[in-house]
Amino acid sequence: MIGALAGVCGVLGAGGLAAGALLPNARLFGPVVGRGAPDGRSVYLTFDDGPSPRATPSILDTLALEGAPATFFMVGRYAESHPELARAVASAGHLVGSHTYTHRKLTLLGPATVRREIGEGHRAVARAAGVEPEAFRAPHGHRNPFVDRTLRGMGCPLVGWTLGVWDSDRPGADEIRRRARSGMRPGTVLLLHDGDGYDPDGDRSQTAEALPGILDDLRRDGYAVRPLAELLA
Ligand SMILES: [Zn+2]
Repeated sequence: MIGALAGVCGVLGAGGLAAGALLPNARLFGPVVGRGAPDGRSVYLTFDDGPSPRATPSILDTLALEGAPATFFMVGRYAESHPELARAVASAGHLVGSHTYTHRKLTLLGPATVRREIGEGHRAVARAAGVEPEAFRAPHGHRNPFVDRTLRGMGCPLVGWTLGVWDSDRPGADEIRRRARSGMRPGTVLLLHDGDGYDPDGDRSQTAEALPGILDDLRRDGYAVRPLAELLA
């Protein structure tokens, strides 16, 4: 069995292919931006799966209060449902990214479906936000060669992340804050959620509640929250 797999997958082996498909920063299928400089104090905030009325407005308020830039990887169908929130993200000066139209995992999908999920998501976010998304993040970071080919054709950079804190499991705002602080390193791209990719009514209020504390900790620990755009140049 192992021999058969090694034959199919060539020098990479099954483990290498699986890692390339499932790890958010794996470069097997093409370039991905997943962290900043490890020798500075810059960190980057990203929010996935919104916009949602239960968390996005409060998150935007906190970011405005603190003058902190962030990136929002929006699900196309949610941007269509809440164009006013998509526009609010863009007009606050945050980076607008797309995150497919329906939040399907892309790994096992063929080229036409991948192109449609990414393309329709991208266009829906653009229409709602009033600006062209400048980056794409794959649901769960899962990819395949068609994902990278589609993005290359669109001239759209792929973004991964360095630190996820499983805020989508709703472990409580204090625990989300604690995980963010304990995992933070220079150059970290932090993954948080302002929506739920599978449930339009999903509750991400714990993430919104944790954010002021996360920003406090970053300041106390000497980190500077920087715009992700500086890694995309
Ligand atoms: Zn997602």
